[in-house]
Amino acid sequence: MSSGREGQLTLAIKMRVSPEPSSSQALLGLMRRYREALNYAVKAIIENKALSLSKAHRLLYMVLKEKYALPSKIAQDCYREAVAIARSWLSNPNRGRVPRAKTPRLWLTHRYSYRVRDSYVEVLGGYKLRIIGWDRRYNAYPNREARLILKDGKLILEISKRVPKPAKYIARGVLAIDVNEKHIVVGNSRFGYRFETAVEKALHYKRLAENLQKKYSSPKYNAWLRRRGIKRRIKSFHRKARNIIEDWAKKVSHTIASLAKQHQYAVARENLKGLVKSLRKLPKEHKIALLMLSYRRLEQWIDWQCEKNGVPIIAVEPTGTSTTCPMCSSKLTENSFRKMRCRKCGFEADRDTVAILNIEKRALKQMGGSLTTPTAPQMTDVAPNRCGEPVNPLKGALAL
Ligand SMILES: [Zn+2]
Repeated sequence: MSSGREGQLTLAIKMRVSPEPSSSQALLGLMRRYREALNYAVKAIIENKALSLSKAHRLLYMVLKEKYALPSKIAQDCYREAVAIARSWLSNPNRGRVPRAKTPRLWLTHRYSYRVRDSYVEVLGGYKLRIIGWDRRYNAYPNREARLILKDGKLILEISKRVPKPAKYIARGVLAIDVNEKHIVVGNSRFGYRFETAVEKALHYKRLAENLQKKYSSPKYNAWLRRRGIKRRIKSFHRKARNIIEDWAKKVSHTIASLAKQHQYAVARENLKGLVKSLRKLPKEHKIALLMLSYRRLEQWIDWQCEKNGVPIIAVEPTGTSTTCPMCSSKLTENSFRKMRCRKCGFEADRDTVAILNIEKRALKQMGGSLTTPTAPQMTDVAPNRCGEPVNPLKGALAL
């Protein structure tokens, strides 16, 4: 996922590449030196307030070439990237520590430091990398800057491209999304689906990390904790938990955007900021933190997937969506657990259904249409590991 511009989307196309065996050690050596040089440069730029390219050049060019043995052009790429990192870090009001590159890498300017030829990438310095596989959908758009990174022992080249945003279609209806502390509900007055979150799955790894930390933080084990292996395992459990959430958000948002596009619906969602705020008031447990992370990532991914697929997006006012009668707008009363009932018109449904119908209604109103006969949709549960798979689990039920 990447930032959008007016009328354009910036995509990062990832491809796995493999260096020629004879030059792979030299390339990895260069990438390691680049990482060290970059970390040094970011720090130096911030300390010396050298935020312009000419200041950074004067401050760093010779050091990067001599101390880190970077070729001239790569040294320029290095302080260029460092300036960009320093600027974005300084403009973040909630900045933590100065960012550090952890994996060996290389930042490359298109045409000057790298070019793609047939099924090879040529990197300045005479390195030739074979392309193992890539997403060819965006081949028609020019390559921009790229990053070569070493991830889990594999070399990945990420080429940045700017592509025009697809035009948004005129929506024929609304796909409402409701998010609560338990799950995601997607639907409208015709159908509805519940998606589990991946929190429980991610929590498993958080607990493993915590247990390991507890075990080795007893005085008996202090020496152990210093052992890199244990630290690395704890870290990898935390990373695993985050990856599970990210994969989940990616898959669910993809399913939502595809479903909307298939039916030419607009996606309507509440602003999730309110929900994240209310979650923040709960005890600071791993579970809540993972849930907040899930919803923040889901919101970003839904917007991104919709932009990418030309799906119109409508944000609706979130107040009272699960407590107002979607038929007559009276206030609903809670009958039993999560069951709502309207005393005035007799409408009855569970909280999730009520929310979906209200979000749909509000979105249609904003679109200038109206909902004639809302009926409670049939809810279907969708297992998190099934959503987004090539065989669309939603497809069968849609025939209704
Ligand atoms: Zn009513």
